[in-house]
Amino acid sequence: MIKFLDNKLFRYLFVFLFLNSSILPLKSSSALAAWVIKTNGVLELRTKSNTNLKAYFQKANKISGDRFWVDFPGELKNPRKIKGNGPIKEIRLGKPNNGKTRLVIEFKEEIYLNPLTWKMIGLDQNRWRIKLFSSKYPFKKIGEGLVEKKRVNYKATQNTIYRKKGEYNYLKLPDVKQNKFLVVLDPGHGGPDPGAIGIGGIRETDVVLEVSKIVEKLLSEKGIKVRLTRKNEVDLDLPPRVAFANNKDADIFVSIHANASRGKRRDINGLETFYYRGWRGRLLAKKIQKQILRVSPGSPDRGVKQGRFYVIKNTRMPAVLVEIGFLTGRLDARRLEKTSHRKRLAYAIAKGILEYLNKVG
Ligand SMILES: [Zn+2]
Repeated sequence: MIKFLDNKLFRYLFVFLFLNSSILPLKSSSALAAWVIKTNGVLELRTKSNTNLKAYFQKANKISGDRFWVDFPGELKNPRKIKGNGPIKEIRLGKPNNGKTRLVIEFKEEIYLNPLTWKMIGLDQNRWRIKLFSSKYPFKKIGEGLVEKKRVNYKATQNTIYRKKGEYNYLKLPDVKQNKFLVVLDPGHGGPDPGAIGIGGIRETDVVLEVSKIVEKLLSEKGIKVRLTRKNEVDLDLPPRVAFANNKDADIFVSIHANASRGKRRDINGLETFYYRGWRGRLLAKKIQKQILRVSPGSPDRGVKQGRFYVIKNTRMPAVLVEIGFLTGRLDARRLEKTSHRKRLAYAIAKGILEYLNKVG
C-alpha cells in the first residue's frame, strides 16, 4: 500500500515495498509459494507468513526491457525461465545470491507501463497483489502453484504440474504442530530381498529406500519426528518392522513399495494405496493417493483399497502401504528410475501425511 515516494529516483532501481517482519534463517527454502499473472495484468503472490518482500522496477536499457522484480527471503531450488506472452517477454525465477529468491518480469519494448501508479497490496498475511499492466493488452495467464487458499481446482493444479515437471517445491508443504508427531516410514524389502525387479533391472529396494529417505527429510523439516524401519540394504523381516512402530507408539505408519505385474507386462502402470481398517487409515491412504497421483500424470489411479498386508494389519496405529508405480510398466519404470521423479513422489507422500496430521492429529 506504499506508493512510489520520489519521482526523481524512478530512473534507477528503487524499493517501493518494504514490509518489516521476522527474518527467515538464511538457509531456509524460498518464501515464494505461488504466483500468477492474470489476464487483467494483476500479479498475485502467495508467500510464507510474515515475509519481508522487496519490489523494484527498472526502465529498459540496452540489454533488457522494462523489468519489475520482487525479492523474497529463502533460497530458490530450481532457477527457471518462463516464456511470456502479450506484453510480457519473459518471467525468470532466480537466485540473485545465496539465500534469496527473485521473481523477474521482463516486459516487451513497445509496452507502456506506468510504475508510478503501482502499489503492492497485502491481501492477508501471505498474499499480495499488484496491477502491472492494463487489461487492454491481450495476455494469457501464467503462474505456478496455487495463490488462492480455498477454491482449489485440482484439474488446473494438475495441469500446472504436468507442464512444470521437475518443479515440485513450489507447492508449499502444509505446516503442522512442531515436535508433536512421530511417523514411522517403512521402505519395503531390503538386503537379500530386492522386492520387484523391473525394466532394465531397476530394483524396488533401491527406489523405495531413496523415496523414504527424502520423505524423512521433508517431514523432519516440518518438525516431525521420523523413524525409518531400515536405513540401508539390510534384511529385515516383517514382524520387526511392525514391532518397531508399535514399540515407538508411532502416530502413523507408512510402508513404501513399488509394484510388479505378473508376466512383467509393460502396459500395466498405476498407483495404489492400501489400508487395513479404520477411517483414519483410510483417510491417510486417500490423502497420500491423491498427492502421488498428482505427480504421476498419465499413470492410472488404481485406487485406495483395503489390503491384508502383514505390516498394515499388525501395526496398532493408522497404517498404509503405498505402491508408487509399476517397475515393470513402461511409463512408471521410466520415471521411477529418475531421482527427480522419486523426489516428486516423496514430496507427494510427505504432503499427504502432513495433510492427514493437520486434519486428524
Ligand atoms: Zn514391495
